[in-house]
Formats: sequence, structure tokens, C-alpha cells
Amino acid sequence: MSLSPTTLDRLRDIVGTEHVRVAPGELAAFARDATPLFQARPDAVVHPADTDQVARILRLATAERIPVVPRGAGSNLCAATVAIRGGIVLALTRLDRILEVSREELLARVEPGVTTAAMADAADAAGLLYPPDPGSRIVSTVGGNVATSAGGLRGLKYGVTRNYVLGLTAVLPTGEVIRTGGRLWKDVAGYDLTRLLTGSEGTLAVLTEITVALLPKPAMARTGLAYFADLAAAGRAVSRVIAGGLLPATLEFLDQRCIDAVERYAGLGLRTDVGALLLFGDDGDESTVDVQLRRIADACVAEGAIDVTTAGDAARSEALLAARRCSLPALSRLGALTILEDASVPRPRLAEMVDRIDAIAARHEVTIATFGHAGDGNRHSTCVLPDPRDSDAIARAERAFAEVFAAAIELGGTITGEHGVGAAKLPYLEARLGTEQLALLRRIKSAFDPAGILNPGKLGS
Ligand SMILES: Cc1cc2nc3c(=O)[nH]c(=O)nc-3n(C[C@H](O)[C@H](O)[C@H](O)COP(=O)(O)OP(=O)(O)OC[C@H]3O[C@@H](n4cnc5c(N)ncnc54)[C@H](O)[C@@H]3O)c2cc1C
Repeated sequence: MSLSPTTLDRLRDIVGTEHVRVAPGELAAFARDATPLFQARPDAVVHPADTDQVARILRLATAERIPVVPRGAGSNLCAATVAIRGGIVLALTRLDRILEVSREELLARVEPGVTTAAMADAADAAGLLYPPDPGSRIVSTVGGNVATSAGGLRGLKYGVTRNYVLGLTAVLPTGEVIRTGGRLWKDVAGYDLTRLLTGSEGTLAVLTEITVALLPKPAMARTGLAYFADLAAAGRAVSRVIAGGLLPATLEFLDQRCIDAVERYAGLGLRTDVGALLLFGDDGDESTVDVQLRRIADACVAEGAIDVTTAGDAARSEALLAARRCSLPALSRLGALTILEDASVPRPRLAEMVDRIDAIAARHEVTIATFGHAGDGNRHSTCVLPDPRDSDAIARAERAFAEVFAAAIELGGTITGEHGVGAAKLPYLEARLGTEQLALLRRIKSAFDPAGILNPGKLGS
């Protein structure tokens, strides 16, 4: 679709001429997000400054049936911000104020365009912890994190973004502004719309203010590494750690291909002659952290770890966490096209899932490297293809991933643990939810968005 000159003028009246972008180069910059294989140029990119402007834009869009795609940093990995039906990309990065950090109430109030790292730094400066810690934290926005319920490296002990959202200001597609939840830690008045909007991937409402819960900052955090001959042994060590009554902040794994790629990329001195690496870490008081790390190391040794080391100081701990955070960029260097998915399985079935993925990759003759959150069963299989124009290889990778999703569901898992559904995983959603639940989802979508303008072709479509 294309927008009429009158519509563009009305948008300019709302946000100011310089905040409505229609030049081809500027539209091209918003045609993609971090998901390969998906792109579509919007008709306009609009940068509102506040809730009122968002409400006026949505009212206009509903009246004129114009698709609107809310967008933070565009770092999602499921084509959630690709404007597949054209229309407006609503870029929320101008709403980037940290409005409040309260030590007394253990909360922060922010606009959605604040980056995750800026949010975490503001909490840290106040002696507090904002636990959600996605690998993309330097660029991703809190709005995008809430809309995808992003996870991260501390998910095992602290949970995901969903566990920290207390209240939202949300603009409905029809222009009404609602305030859900708020500053209260306990509030059961009405349906839990805060939770419904969290993870709704920009399909139900546009979030313009977010109140998150914070925690007192732990005195220290430390990490360690255990190397194993194979992923099965690393998986057994994870089970032993949890069954032993430990709940570390971090339990992440890398397979051999990832270790190799990360070492070449970051030069951290990792061993590359092993089959798998388990990165573990915990935070708390000085005395307890050391004990916890020793107990985790013992569990790894009991399951046959080849080598176990713990970081001596905070700087080395941070460097080891960086090894995990840079897994995706490191793998991206191995080929021109990197396709990643994040199906999740119950923790005890992780090793079985990885075996299944290896068999699927072999059958379809593609290379799949796997890393991820061993502690919560959420792994990221990454297919690296040398030539982005090789349509045969892309088709084989797509068939392989369809089988990976089916395998995850068969093992009691899900098609996405944290990255979201977007356009990329919509074809697999019914297999996960079932017909009745999907139909209910669609009825909820049309109650919020009767004209179907908000992020069409995604979740709820
Ligand atoms: C290198 C790398 C590492 C990553 N690591 C992780 C990780 O560890 N854990 C993890 O969970 N994800 C990870 N991701 C994926 C991604 O960063 C997350 O999904 C993140 O939450 C997206 O934030 P964003 O600001 O980029 O949102 P976008 O990509 O812009 O948008 C994501 C979704 O949120 C919606 N949205 C955005 N803002 C709003 C708003 N204000 N109101 C309503 N809807 C909105 C969009 O419509 C879209 O559906 C990673 C990505 C990369 C590239």
C-alpha cells in the first residue's frame, strides 16, 4: 500500500515534518530487522515523541486502515518488525527517558526507547539490579524486551523480562490510552493485562511507559568454565547441579563449533580441543558465591569435566560472559548468512534435543552450531550458510528448522523460548498452541485491534 499525500501531511502535523521519513534510503534502513531472509519496505517511518502523538497516529491508522509496526532497536530475531503489509514503521527510540529509579520502592519507570544497558546502568548506579540481561542489551530497548519478554544470561535464577514488569502505559490501536498495573507489588484487580501485553510482540498495543521491578544489587558476581568431551556430559552436569539444590544465576553452553568461532572472534584463551563448554556463574555475598561456584565445579567434575576453572576477579568474569554474549556475532563471521532459532525443551531433554538437531542437520546437509541457556533448556541452533544466494541451501536449512521445531514440541518443548514468534515462526504456532488456543488468541487480538492494523501478519493474525 502507499500513503496518500493527505495522510502524510496529517502524520507531519502530529510529529513534525522531520520525524516523518519517506526517502527510499531511509525506508530501506527500516526494511529489515536482525532476522535474515525477511525484508519489506514500509511506506513511512514515523518517530513520535510521546504517548499523545502515538495515540493520534494510531487513531489515524485505524480510521484509514494503515498497518503500523511498532519498533524499538529492530534487534529481534523473528522478523517481528518487518512491515510485511507495508504501512508505517512506528520507531519508538525518541521516547528514551529514564523517568525514575526508586530505591525505596525498588522500581524504575522508563520510556520504551531506553536501551536495556542504560536501564541496567541506571539501576546499578542506585545500588540496584535489573536482572533481564539479553545478549543484545547494548542496543535492544526496554520496550522491545517487554514486547518479546526477552530472556538472557541470568534467566535460570532471576527469570525473564516478564517477571519484572509491574505496570504499563499502553496505547490501543483505536487510540485509547490504558494504564495497567503500576507501582504495586500486589494487585489482582481485573485480568492481568500487564502480563498479556508483555510478550504480545507489538500486536495488541503500543507501550509508551514501563514500570519495572528492581532488586537489591548482589555484593559480587563470579563465573567459571567447565570443558567437556561432549554436550551430553555437559547436560548431565547441568542436571546434577540443579538436582543438588543449586540455582546459579548463569548456566550457558557452547558446542565445539561455537567455542571455536568465539575463540577466533574474541581471543579469550578458550580451549578449542573439547566438545562442549559450560559457562556457570552466580552472584550474592562473597562467602556464598565462592561456595556455590565450588559446588558447581564439583558437580561438573563428577560428570567427567575435562577441565574446570573459575574467574579470579570481576573483569575476568565479565570477559567470560562476553564469550557467551558474542556467540551469534562470532558465528555470523563464518558465513554470509546466519539463520538462528530458539526452540526450547524441558531441561533434562536438552542433550537429546541437541542429538536430534545433529541428525537433522546431517540429513539436510547443513551445518548447525548450537549454544544457549543450558539452565532453562533454551538453546539457539544457528545455521551458517556461505552463500546467501544459494536458494537450495536456504530451502534445506528451512526444512531442517521445521523439523527442529517439530522435535522440540515432541520432546515437550516450544518453538521459541525467548525470541518470539513474529512472521518467522507464525507457520509453526498452531502446532505449539493447538487450534482452539490459536482461535482464542485471534479473538483477543480482534478485541484489542478490530481493524487489524497493529503489526499484521504476525502473532494473532
Ligand atoms: C546479537 C543478539 C543477541 C540477542 N540476545 C538475546 C537474548 O539473550 N535474549 C533474548 O530474549 N533476545 C535476544 N536477542 C533478540 C532481541 O534483541 C530481543 O528480542 C529484544 O527484546 C528486541 O528488542 P528491540 O528493542 O530490538 O525490539 P524490536 O526488535 O524493535 O521489536 C521487537 C518486538 O517488540 C515490538 N515492540 C518494540 N517496541 C515496542 C513498544 N514500545 N510497544 C509495543 N511493541 C513494541 C515490535 O513490534 C516487535 O514485535 C538478541 C539479538 C541479537 C541480534
